Amino acid sequence: MRCPFCGHEETQVVETRESDEGDVIRRRRRCMGCDKRFTTYERAEIEYPSIVKKDGRRTEFDPAKLRASMTLALRKRPVSAEALDQAVSRIETSLLHSGEREVSSTRVGEWVMRELKRLDKVAYIRFASVYRSFDDVSEFMNAVRETSRRGR
Ligand SMILES: [Zn+2]
Repeated sequence: MRCPFCGHEETQVVETRESDEGDVIRRRRRCMGCDKRFTTYERAEIEYPSIVKKDGRRTEFDPAKLRASMTLALRKRPVSAEALDQAVSRIETSLLHSGEREVSSTRVGEWVMRELKRLDKVAYIRFASVYRSFDDVSEFMNAVRETSRRGR
């Protein structure tokens, strides 16, 4: 790793730390030339299939958005953050193992329903009765955001 300050090629790692989720490694480095310190981040690059919405548009899969949608369905339900994380990661795995370049939002919605059914029946019914696909969830989230903005 070349020093961003002086371009020196030798740097020494003085500290290595993993993020709480374990998906990012942060390294603190010291330049052997100018002695300045800087930080580098290392994360695995994963390519998910694109999500095809019902109107035919493609969108990138966003695990954070998926998690937020499920959190919404699980609102005030007795489900731990850890159980939710595991559910999200199972959906990510399903996507990666689909072996396809594109997956429909309806199919992602089905995976979400399968996980919610396992986690909490009420959340499952909430989701299944109103939102049939991942598109609907995004629309629902926008609606919630709008409402909270107006309420202020
Ligand atoms: Zn340097």
